[in-house]
Amino acid sequence: MHINFQLILLLSVTMTHHLTLAQTCNERQLPGPTLVDMCGESGMLMSFLDSFVRKNEKISGICERVTPIETPDPEYDYIVVGGGAAGSVVAARLSEISHWKVLLLEAGDDEPASAQIPSFTTDIEGSSLEWGYLTTNESHACLSTNASCKYAAAKALGGCTVHNGMIYLRGNPTDYNNWVAMGNEGWTWDEVKPFFLKVEDNGEIDRVGRFWHATGGPLFVERSRYQPPFTDSILRAAEEAGFGVSEDLNGDETTGFAIVQTTSKNGVRRSSATSYLRPIRNRENLHISLNTTVTRVIIEDGKAVGVEYFKNDEFKTVRALREVILSAGNVKSPHILLLSGIGPKEHLESMGITVVKDLPGVGSNYHDHPYFMLSFTINENDVYDNDWAVAAEYLAFQTGPLSSYGIAGAIAHIASTATTPDYPDIQIFSAGYQADCAPGEIGALRSTGRRTVTLSALYLHPKSRGRISLASNDPFESPLIWGNFLSEPSDVVGILEGINIVLKLTNSNTLRSHNMTLSMSILEACRGYTFATTEYWKCALHQAVKPVGHGTGSCKMGPKHDAMAVVDHKLRVRGIKGLRVADTSIMPQIITGNTASPTMMIGERVSEFIKESSGLSSESRMGVVPTK
Ligand SMILES: Cc1cc2nc3c(=O)[nH]c(=O)nc-3n(C[C@H](O)[C@H](O)[C@H](O)COP(=O)(O)OP(=O)(O)OC[C@H]3O[C@@H](n4cnc5c(N)ncnc54)[C@H](O)[C@@H]3O)c2cc1C
Repeated sequence: MHINFQLILLLSVTMTHHLTLAQTCNERQLPGPTLVDMCGESGMLMSFLDSFVRKNEKISGICERVTPIETPDPEYDYIVVGGGAAGSVVAARLSEISHWKVLLLEAGDDEPASAQIPSFTTDIEGSSLEWGYLTTNESHACLSTNASCKYAAAKALGGCTVHNGMIYLRGNPTDYNNWVAMGNEGWTWDEVKPFFLKVEDNGEIDRVGRFWHATGGPLFVERSRYQPPFTDSILRAAEEAGFGVSEDLNGDETTGFAIVQTTSKNGVRRSSATSYLRPIRNRENLHISLNTTVTRVIIEDGKAVGVEYFKNDEFKTVRALREVILSAGNVKSPHILLLSGIGPKEHLESMGITVVKDLPGVGSNYHDHPYFMLSFTINENDVYDNDWAVAAEYLAFQTGPLSSYGIAGAIAHIASTATTPDYPDIQIFSAGYQADCAPGEIGALRSTGRRTVTLSALYLHPKSRGRISLASNDPFESPLIWGNFLSEPSDVVGILEGINIVLKLTNSNTLRSHNMTLSMSILEACRGYTFATTEYWKCALHQAVKPVGHGTGSCKMGPKHDAMAVVDHKLRVRGIKGLRVADTSIMPQIITGNTASPTMMIGERVSEFIKESSGLSSESRMGVVPTK
């Protein structure tokens, strides 16, 4: 039987290949990890899929990739460090000014083709693309993993937008108004909204409306082309249990369950780099150097004048005539500042680093959204969701199970008793039915048990704060990352309320008709409590709560009187000229939702600040779509 599907697959991909692949890019190599690297030995399907995905222009974008430079020139007007969610935006926007010469330095390689397939999201997240960070010395979370939590972060052009869950949420207007209440002028919702709209190219504008959304920006968003039928059961259960269903959590109805939009286009992931850099790949005043790790900012007389970087086994320097912008993410931006002598004086001295600027807040205020995952079985056979037919459909049309991330599109935002209904603080997210690593045969069983789905309770307004500090002055040694998750009791209470929401949902007739049954084994450390009681969950949270990957706040924006502020409201590093930070690390307080598009908004804002400060008229500042 499966031979027929192999034939169908080969015929369809061959057709697609000939229709879409230009001769000039036929030979181009794309970096790994491959699907085989990620899946291990799981039959022929993965190697077929990987090689055909690479050659399929509609999926891999092989003909539109940027052409990196081998060796940067000695000097540029602007140097952007890190090509992730924010850095790709900044490099694209600054290089719109044709007489500015811009350099983007990225530690990782270009995006792997495998990452473009939405259903492989979890696999790419666990792959060699990772920086491999771990937190240490946790006292209240991750106790079952030696008091150390995994800190997911991608090392690739596009940063974490290459391996993230693609969920398109922008936070709640109150988040940004709160930033202003903390002393950050110019960041109200009304002031940031135009920049969110500038980012966006909404593929469903007639459905979501132009009050909250826009078309014409670089980042395409859509609802996944495929939803497993179980998603519909979750939405029906939400109605039944009284949580409600929202058409658009980014719109008027900010609470309830919803099928959210994702940062993908026609069934293929759209990272920040795909969206912002590929369309301008021929721009001559933008140089992109990959596999290039910045080790410190060079500061002379209180001004950033360049950076030191490591590439091809050599340390080199490059000068910045105007500014350096750090967009290396929540771990590496503070790390680079500390290595450059900007940070808490005593800490720098204890590491043998010459103090350039005593800035006590560098690395502090690190926080993330903590979450707890509940597993359930349902009354279905545990079959693989990927097979030869599914792969053939995706290669030919980019539709079907590979075009979505299983049931992950079903998300809820709900207000706990600690907040107001218009400012929800709990997120429920779903996982299951992912069409990823599989042997290929239709109907093949993953196990002889029943199918598992998970529902996770995530706390959106955490108060716990940790720190990022140096382990040594070696730029290649990972800094110490201390999350201090769940140190604030209100974070525990928030997740407990989230667990109750999950259990209420699964107690609905709709989900009971699937025989949805809690299937978690009792944690050894919590054996003293009766399973599934509040006391048991409390114990379990400290054992198994994890940060979701929205690391934030380690170079926070704040007013002059806030001694812990690292950057001002225009994202300039306090006390150093010509140096800004623009990424998730500047958020003084994490937003109510997932952090990628808010970080892209930050990239748009800093570009505007820079253009404004160099005296450009607003007309020449407001490009909408990056063009050549
Ligand atoms: C597993 C996971 C799932 C997520 N899911 C979602 C989701 O569904 N929706 C959502 O909105 N958000 C999601 N996020 C969060 C979101 O992707 C991040 O918040 C966002 O990408 C952060 O942007 P950034 O620019 O701050 O950093 P990054 O995107 O991490 O970019 C930083 C870049 O800097 C580079 N870099 C670091 N150090 C150096 C150096 N020394 N020299 C040169 N380059 C360097 C890195 O390689 C990287 O490319 C998820 C994150 C993770 C980890």
